[in-house]
Amino acid sequence: MSFVESLCCRECGKAYPISALNACEFCFGPLEVIYDYDSMKGIVSRSKIESGPQTIWRYSDLLPTKASPNLDLSTGFTPLLRADHLAAELGLNSLYLKDDTRNPTGSFKDRVVSVALSKARELGLKVAACPSTGNLANSVAAHAARAGMEAYIFVPSNLEHNKIAMSAIFGGHVIAVDGNYDQVNRLCAELAMLHDDWAFVNVNVRPYYAEGSKTLAFEVAEQLGWQLPDHVVVPIASGSQLTKIYKGFNELTRLGLVPESQVRISGAQAQGCSPVAEAFLSGADYIKPVKPDTIAKSLAIGNPADGWYALETIRKTGGSAAAVSDDELLEGIGLLAKTEGVFAETAGGVTIASLVKLVNSGAIKRDETVVAYITGNGLKTIEALGDRVGPTNTIAPSVDAFEELLRL
Ligand SMILES: *Cc1c(COP(=O)(O)O)cnc(C)c1O
Ligand SMILES: [Zn+2]
Repeated sequence: MSFVESLCCRECGKAYPISALNACEFCFGPLEVIYDYDSMKGIVSRSKIESGPQTIWRYSDLLPTKASPNLDLSTGFTPLLRADHLAAELGLNSLYLKDDTRNPTGSFKDRVVSVALSKARELGLKVAACPSTGNLANSVAAHAARAGMEAYIFVPSNLEHNKIAMSAIFGGHVIAVDGNYDQVNRLCAELAMLHDDWAFVNVNVRPYYAEGSKTLAFEVAEQLGWQLPDHVVVPIASGSQLTKIYKGFNELTRLGLVPESQVRISGAQAQGCSPVAEAFLSGADYIKPVKPDTIAKSLAIGNPADGWYALETIRKTGGSAAAVSDDELLEGIGLLAKTEGVFAETAGGVTIASLVKLVNSGAIKRDETVVAYITGNGLKTIEALGDRVGPTNTIAPSVDAFEELLRL
């Protein structure tokens, strides 16, 4: 059942019909999906959700599609892992990892793409497209193949080979653009106006895309036994995920599915691209765009579309923000792997290194129940590890050689 009411401008409140539209015609504000929450009461329940599929679609009443079947590669309902070793290392009492490395194409982007392309099909759009720093490209390519849609995927030409390969293998058009992500993004904004029957997942169908991130909040609450955590740490690229995790927690309390409590939401960025963290830490009331320079390419958006809303959400919830160096994020990847057996990509390293900083600065308290969102798989960014990883020893092929090594 669909409870979607309309699209609504976040700035001026003007309502629009459900369509492939992402910005207000009057004030250019971003459009957001509005639901009829009153009609959900008595219908959307814990038990109804619990009897649903082990994917994001168990929350379909709170998502903007009515398509049945939805486009599905079995995205979501990823594990919430208790992280006692890492917690002990950091001096926390209760730490969990939301392990989104285990999605179909290895990142949380499968959540937003499943929703965006399900809606695109419903709206009659035949071509899937996106500008991407890599993970979105992988996910759109795979989901378009699954849906039998044509795909046009635009990426910066300096992207890692394995991210290009993981998009190209699905048979769509992969267009390498000589420019950085912000330039690719601008190009796609122009192309979306020219090809208005295409679904640019994070441009003209962005309001539906963004809704997919709410499932990160829903799952955590359900997996904690229908309780909200005290504090979550969320990586920021465009800032969309962070704002929608907030929206997701709010929807659960509004529907009475969890007891009311304030979740503090903190943001994690790489120093080489930290416009939101910089604004938070300097107390600024605007986001100053930057030119990205970090190995955390999946977070390298210098002019984040939802940056301002992410900043506002962090402040409103009593959260904080951290920016970490490339060295620190690589340490973070290693720390997570060694303490908990989870291999994250650079974005996950940013989250863990930021978690460390926020604990050390006192922004995260020892007695809080904390969830760190690990949004991408380490296999995607192996080359970022460079010579930090390799054999610990090299020996001759003999028993003596190994026994000798053991004695040392
Ligand atoms: C895109 C991405 C993010 C951030 O998403 P936004 O909604 O753009 O802030 C975080 N982690 C990974 C691995 C990503 O690919
Ligand atoms: Zn408006």
